[in-house]
Formats: sequence, C-alpha cells, structure tokens
Amino acid sequence: VKKLLVILLASLWACNPKQEKSPKLVIILSVDQMRGDLLTEFSPVLSKGLHKIQNNSLQFSNTFHNHSCTNTAVGHASISTGCNPKKHGITGNSIYNRAALSLEYAVADSTTVFQGVENTTLRKVSPKNIERPSYGDIIRESNPQSKSFSVSLKDRTSVIMGGHHANRSFWFDAESTQMISNSHYGGNFPDWAENYKGSQIMEKEIEEGWHFEVPKDRIPSFTATDSSIYESGRFRDYFPHTFDTYNPSSTSNKRVGNFLWNTPFGDKFLLEFAKTLIENEDLGKDDHVDALSIGLSSSDYIGHHFGPKSWEVLDYFHKLDHYLNDFIAFLDSAVGKESYILVLTSDHGACDIPERNDPENVAVRVSSQQYRTDLKNIGMNTMQELGLSDYPIDTMKYNGIEPNFESIRGTNIDSLTLVNALCSGLNSLYYIDETFNGFELKNRKSDKDYYGQYYNNFHQTKSLFIEFLNVPNSLINKSKNGSNHGSPYEYDTSVPLLFYGAIPKKIKMRNEVYSTDITPTLLGLLNITTSHEFDGEDIIKKYVK
Ligand SMILES: [Zn+2]
Repeated sequence: VKKLLVILLASLWACNPKQEKSPKLVIILSVDQMRGDLLTEFSPVLSKGLHKIQNNSLQFSNTFHNHSCTNTAVGHASISTGCNPKKHGITGNSIYNRAALSLEYAVADSTTVFQGVENTTLRKVSPKNIERPSYGDIIRESNPQSKSFSVSLKDRTSVIMGGHHANRSFWFDAESTQMISNSHYGGNFPDWAENYKGSQIMEKEIEEGWHFEVPKDRIPSFTATDSSIYESGRFRDYFPHTFDTYNPSSTSNKRVGNFLWNTPFGDKFLLEFAKTLIENEDLGKDDHVDALSIGLSSSDYIGHHFGPKSWEVLDYFHKLDHYLNDFIAFLDSAVGKESYILVLTSDHGACDIPERNDPENVAVRVSSQQYRTDLKNIGMNTMQELGLSDYPIDTMKYNGIEPNFESIRGTNIDSLTLVNALCSGLNSLYYIDETFNGFELKNRKSDKDYYGQYYNNFHQTKSLFIEFLNVPNSLINKSKNGSNHGSPYEYDTSVPLLFYGAIPKKIKMRNEVYSTDITPTLLGLLNITTSHEFDGEDIIKKYVK
C-alpha cells in the first residue's frame, strides 16, 4: 500500500507539477499600441518568441479596455490597478485639476529630484495622482520581502505600472540615452544602472540603421506597399530608415536617443535593460514572488508614424518576435521554466490610417487648427445665444472641453443650460457623433452608445466636464499624416491578453474580458487575497478553472 501511495503521489506530481510550485516572478509585458488583432494578422511572419507565447499560453482573444480615453496613461493604470479611471484617477495622459482649473501631466510631481543623470529636460514625475495600488504594491503589501520594479521608455508607463511602492521605476532619458529614476523611490540610484547607455548597447543598430527583414513571400496582403504618402514622422515613408535619413524634431543632443525611441531598437534596448535588472536585483531568485513591469514604447511611436498595417509595424513585430525569443530563453535560464508568469498585453489599440482603402475620399482627419477654430466658433455662438459677457469655454482637449462656469455667474443662466448649449455646438460638428457631460455621467443612466466607457472614465475632479465621441475611423490630431488612438471604438480598446509560463491551462478563451481583470487574475494565480476592491475580476477562476 505504501509503495502504491508513493507511485500515486509521484504520478500526481508528474501530471500536475504546476500546482506544486508557486511562481517566483510575474512580469506584465505591455507593448504600447499593440491592437488585439495584430498578433493574428501578423502571425505569418512570426515564428519565434511571439509565436511561442501565442501557442503555449492561456489566451483571452476578446480583451478590451473598458474606458473611453484610450491612451497610454489610462490604459496602463487600468491594467496595473484593476480599476477604471473613475477609481484610479488617471483619466488621460493629461488630467484635469478642477481645483486649479488646469490640465496637468498625469504623473506630474514637481517635488521629485532626478537620479541617474545630473541634468535632464524630462518632466518631474511620481505616482501621486494614482488613487489605487498597483499589482506590485499589493504583492509587496502581502509579502514585504517581495520586490517590485518597472521599466519603460515612457516615464508615465513606468511610473504608473510600478505604482506607489515599487522598489524603483526606471524610464528613458533621450539626452543621456540612459534609464533614469528619481527620489520618489528613495535611496541611491543603483550602481549597475549608472552609465548603462543606449548609445553603447545599441551602437551596432544605430550605425547600421533600421532595415526591413521580413521575408518578401511572407508579407501579408493587407500591407501591399511600403510607401504611402500618409505615412510620416521622423523618417521617409519607405525603408531603410537610417540615422542619416532620420529627421529629429528636437535638438541635436537628443538625436541618438530619439532615433532609439522611433525604431525597434528602443524596445530592444529596454529588454536588455530588463535582463540586467533581473540579474542585478536578484528577481525571481527566492520564494518571495517578485513583480516586474516592462512597457515597450517604440511600438507606439512607429504605429503613430506609419499606421498599424504598415511595413514598419510589420517589421517591428517581426523583430520583437526575435527579441522576445531571446528574452524568454533568458527567463527560462535565470528564473527557471514554469517558475515565472509572463502576461502579454497592451495599453490601447490604434486606428488604421483613415486614407488607406479610402477610394471615396471620405476619410476624416481634422487638424488641430480646424478643431480650435470650430471650438472658437462654438464659444462665440454660445456667448451670443445666452447673452454672456465672458467666453464660455475654459479648457480644451482633443476629446473634451471644460465650460467656463464663471461666465454664467451673476446671470440667470444655469450651468445645465450652458453645458447643453456647448454640447449642441459640439454635436453640430461633422466629425463629432455624441457628447457626454458631467450631469449625465454622474446622475443618470443613459442609452447612448459608449455611455459605459465614458461613465467608467469620468472622475469628479479629474475629468473635463464635457467629453465627446468622434465619428468612427476619424482622427483629430496635430499631424496631417500617420495614425492615432484615444476613442472607445473597438480598434482602440481591443488588446491582446496572454498568460504564459506557470499557468494552469493553455487554451484559447473567447469570453469578453477587460484590462481591469489582469491584476485580480494575477493575484489569484499567486493565491494572494487582498481587501482592495477591483472593477475587474479573476477571469481564470471564473472561466478556466
Ligand atoms: Zn500613442
């Protein structure tokens, strides 16, 4: 009987080894602007790391951000806190400060002191505006011996993914080409990160330039040509993109750093930095699970310049496929196969370049100049219509405005009348489909399309009072070329979600799930219970187990 028991236990162990080991490291890898369909669309050119992740993971193929303002700060905050902007307070890349009547950078904090470089022109940042803990914060709260780090080229991505109590968040300084940090994370800047320079690590890539490496016979048909007049940015609209053909907007002392930002090599550098961090900070080395967030950002810049279905984005993913192959091999050896969880997701999707596939020439691209002129007319008309002596618009963004409530003080006009007048002006613009204001987002249910996403995004003191929905496939931005994101349409909200590594089942799920589900699901995989509440839920427990 004893022998039988041993055999039985041994076979149980063999069948189900994952249940016995608890992960030593969890990594959220977010690829900025990786729209939900791209992994499938580009699969003909993927055979390495992305292919491996796609074919050996628990994949949720219907994953969306559930907020209206689909940009980097908001998306990452929803991923890392498991909550919607209404609760985490990051309502946009810039958030409205109703007390000060002004917009400020989502992670602004003028009290911090930079570490890692003497001088930088970057903005001073910290997580102080985030009203909820990050997944790393909760992991450290449940076990103070756990460590939490975040890295990204973008400061907002790193700071937001790291949260309040990260051991350290690192981001990229284009001038020094180094990863820097600041005094929010206390202590001294680590020696190993000093003088870790992108200009040196990526020396070969910078010298050789960015060449198209996808085998010609595997190019998907939707990316018919390399060159299109609607592609733009810092490069020519065709390969190769070299340091010499690169046209930086900024001063020459950032030229190398900006070349990295705008090519796949920025993200290659970041993955190299992440490996160095894992080694030097001993992540995944003991039984206290550690957290690491990696935010790849070059993907977003390349997407903005060339659009999601360009040869450039295709080549980016082809290169990322190789970079991640290398990164996974590193994790397998440094942490151990099945000893880590890697979550692949994104902060938002993107709109296809409207002018592509547009034989009717009806693509809607609104310049910032036109938008400003239109708003000015709405402001002047409203002033006249309500008989006001003050201009009735206080602040504007590309997805909303703040009324100047002072303009009705001492008149017999109430704020609802003012808001309705401005909304009807916005609704009359051909590129605006719908408006949502603070009254309806606070007090009432609505049957308007996309109301739920606007409701989730609306924060009492950090949102503009009037937000609007542009017409589908339209862009309101500064650029006359390229693409953008920021709407609640599916092309902007859909993102990949794949759990790779130490996970119970490797299957494909079609349930509709949200970015806010990632953190509660990760905590579930780690058996961490918490009193913090989430908008999302543990989708593995709910749908898979
Ligand atoms: Zn972007």
